[in-house]
Amino acid sequence: MTLITGPAGFIGSALARLVVEKEGKALLLDKLTYAGHMANLEGVVDPAAGVHFVEGDICDYELCLKIMKEHSVTGVMNLAAESHVDNSINGPKPFIETNLLGTFTLLEAARTYWSELPEPEKSNFRFLHVSTDEVFGELEDSGYFTEETPYAPNSPYSASKAGSDHLVRAWNVTYGLPTIITNCSNNYGPRQFPEKLIPRMIDCALAGEPLPVYGKGENVRDWIHVEDHSQGIYLAYTKGIIGQSYCFGGRSERKNIAVVEAICEILDKIKPRDGGSYKALISFVEDRAGHDWRYAIDDTKAERELGFTREFENFEEGLKQTIQWYLDNGAWIEAIKNRKK
Ligand code: NAD
Repeated sequence: MTLITGPAGFIGSALARLVVEKEGKALLLDKLTYAGHMANLEGVVDPAAGVHFVEGDICDYELCLKIMKEHSVTGVMNLAAESHVDNSINGPKPFIETNLLGTFTLLEAARTYWSELPEPEKSNFRFLHVSTDEVFGELEDSGYFTEETPYAPNSPYSASKAGSDHLVRAWNVTYGLPTIITNCSNNYGPRQFPEKLIPRMIDCALAGEPLPVYGKGENVRDWIHVEDHSQGIYLAYTKGIIGQSYCFGGRSERKNIAVVEAICEILDKIKPRDGGSYKALISFVEDRAGHDWRYAIDDTKAERELGFTREFENFEEGLKQTIQWYLDNGAWIEAIKNRKK
């Protein structure tokens, strides 16, 4: 049984669905911070069928070790994190606690558990750590991040993730813990907390509020659908080589303003607004401190070595599906904004 941390969040909930589909069972551990929402796991948790949920913190060594032993876990997928760059600028401490100390604690619990496993369980065990392309810093107008790109994180968030990646790598080199790291570009799709660009813009647009775009909206991000990212994580977990890292991207580079305009154009078609296009709501605001210019990923290693492919090749189609999900799930967005668990 695989232990997934952070399953009540955006990517974790998509991955938990995939793991349950593939393996029939899972052990889910989440602290339920403001970003963790039990509604994201609706229809997933089913103890009778072997899908267990534990409310708890990856900083709690005793708890992590206890549940690994109780459920005889065969591997760990670590997605528990503080994940929002703006929050890390305003208050970095929880990022250091969860992303650095939490990853350290989970690694230590996994090391203790793994070191006592008999063969072949010991050789088959994996610790898969999910990280971001933001650890590589920023790109100019050309070039791509790959697994070989040196780390150069710029925000407290990316620095804490970079530190966690280094810990995971060191636990493999020093202790032989069978670890794998994935670094992915910006995700989009259903169930993303409305602090992130795409759900925030959808939420503001539907409320008729200004759509706040940093600077002139010229910064470039590469967008991958959360379901494609989940497939990539699972491939790395089951087929990846121990000690390696794998990058995943969406081959969908867009300026932020282009993303916001695309959202407006889709909404103009499927939910027209009185008073003309949603684009009239676009409002440029002061840029984010230390705002990275551009991220882009060359993920040919994952394609070549893991057989990774993307189902959502067309970003605008994926965006349309995502917007439709938010339109169909208005109660979800209200509940999560009111921080009901
Ligand atoms: P999220 O903020 O939506 O979810 C994070 C989850 O972790 C929440 O359910 C939260 O309750 C839980 N959590 C936080 N602290 C915890 C702790 N101490 N113990 C246990 N659970 C805790 O995040 P997300 O966007 O789903 O990101 C998941 C992972 O993927 C993160 O590691 C993030 O760095 C990485 N990532 C995200 C993106 C993206 O675009 N969202 C891109 C690349 C990588």
